[in-house]
Amino acid sequence: MPEGHTVHRTANHFKKNFAGQIVSVSSPQGRFSDSKLIDGSKLIEAKAVGKQLFLQFEPAILRIHLGIYGKWQFTRPEELPEPKGAVRARFVANGQLADLRGPTACELLSKEQYLQVLNRLGPDPLDPKADMRHFVEKVAKSGVSIGQLLMDQSVISGIGNVYRAELLFRANLNPHTPGKLVPREVVEALWLDAVALMPLGVKTGFMLTREGFMKAKTKKDERYYVYKREGLACRECGNLISIELMATRKLYFCSSCQA
Ligand SMILES: [Zn+2]
Repeated sequence: MPEGHTVHRTANHFKKNFAGQIVSVSSPQGRFSDSKLIDGSKLIEAKAVGKQLFLQFEPAILRIHLGIYGKWQFTRPEELPEPKGAVRARFVANGQLADLRGPTACELLSKEQYLQVLNRLGPDPLDPKADMRHFVEKVAKSGVSIGQLLMDQSVISGIGNVYRAELLFRANLNPHTPGKLVPREVVEALWLDAVALMPLGVKTGFMLTREGFMKAKTKKDERYYVYKREGLACRECGNLISIELMATRKLYFCSSCQA
């Protein structure tokens, strides 16, 4: 599943190539029949909050969540190609084409519904206006593990499995620690670390989390401290990296550095 930085990149693509334009919107697959309500209207704004993308058309706001299987395909074709596969939504403007396949959500919202969705989402470290306190206070009140809280989009928006694992390692924090037992300054430092790291993800398209390896050309097997490194030696202490399931998602950590 894409993490927040990918969705912010998609929002930037829409801002650059579609915003301010009259956009032709269709649903070749037919499952997004409301497409006709925004077809031929102007895209006013594109915005990402965590893993959610909001495309504000004049008549309504389109909410898209890719989920596990959703994918975008952006092209600039000479001629409009026939849709391949199950294209839920197709956007065409100014020679640009965006095809959306397999999203979990692709639905129109009124302004009021949009605000309700926003209210349910935790602050997004990629939003310069986000308020860290909402995150810090939710963590401080919760008996749920910090490993699960980081993945809870109502607590913090945009963190997925990779950033979760890497942020916790960088904080030397055991993923099983209940939120309320994590010192406040450590929770604040986690937030600030996400604020520092995630814009690099937006800029490069890669989740760069390892000191000294913050370049986009860093090879995949050198990029992370713990993510997908189960059974390999920890880069800091040599202990073997652990893997387990936490709330159905794979969790990677060093039981020595993150004791
Ligand atoms: Zn270690």
